[in-house]
Amino acid sequence: MKDKGLLIVISGPSGVGKGTVLNEFINDEDLKLSYSVSMTTREMRPGEADGVNYYFVSKEEFQKTINEGGLLEWTEFVGNYYGTPLAAVEKLRNEGRNVLLEIEVNGCRQVVEKVPDALTIFIVPPSMEELEKRIRGRSTEPEEIVQQRLAKAARELKQTGNYRYVVCNDDVKLAADIIRVIIRHHMERDF
Ligand code: 5GP
Repeated sequence: MKDKGLLIVISGPSGVGKGTVLNEFINDEDLKLSYSVSMTTREMRPGEADGVNYYFVSKEEFQKTINEGGLLEWTEFVGNYYGTPLAAVEKLRNEGRNVLLEIEVNGCRQVVEKVPDALTIFIVPPSMEELEKRIRGRSTEPEEIVQQRLAKAARELKQTGNYRYVVCNDDVKLAADIIRVIIRHHMERDF
C-alpha cells in the first residue's frame, strides 16, 4: 500500500459524459478521492460556484500564479486559461488522498512529464456518431460551434495513445465500474 496518494488524470472529448461517469464514484469513500479544483479565466456558468467547480480568476491573477510556479500544468482552451494549482494537489496527496484531475490532453502531457507514474485515463465515446448525437442533444449551440466541438473531439481522440487506460463510455455504470477497478488496482500496487 502506498503512503502518498495517487495522481489520477481523466480526460475525454466534450460531450463524452466525463462528469456523469465521475459522479458515479467520486464520493466512494474507499477510493479516497479528492477532486482538484482548477483555476480558470473563463466566465462562471449558471449553477457553478467559485471554489467548487473552479477558482474563477482574472488573466493577471492567472499569469501571476504561473510566474510564481504555482501551477502543476496549464493550457489555453478556446480563448481561456485553465490550470491545476500545485500546492493543493501536493497537500492532498501527502495526506494520502488520491487526487483526481479532470483536464484536457495538453495538460495531461505536462502532468506525465512531471509525474511519470500518474494514472491517466481517457474516456472515449462508443462512436463519433454517438458523440455527435450527445453534443447535439445537450445544447442549442449554433451549427458552427457544434462542428468545432466535433473537430476538436476528433483531434483529441487521436491522442488516446498518451494515456495508460482508455475506457469507453457506452454505459455509464459500466464505465464507472471499470474506472473503480483501475483505481483500486493502482492503490494496491506499485507501478
Ligand atoms: P469547461 O470550460 O467546459 O469547464 O472545460 C473545458 C476543458 O478544459 C475541459 O476539457 C476540461 O477538462 C479542461 N480543463 C478544466 N480544468 C483544467 C485544467 O486545470 N487544466 C487543463 N489542462 N484543462 C482543464
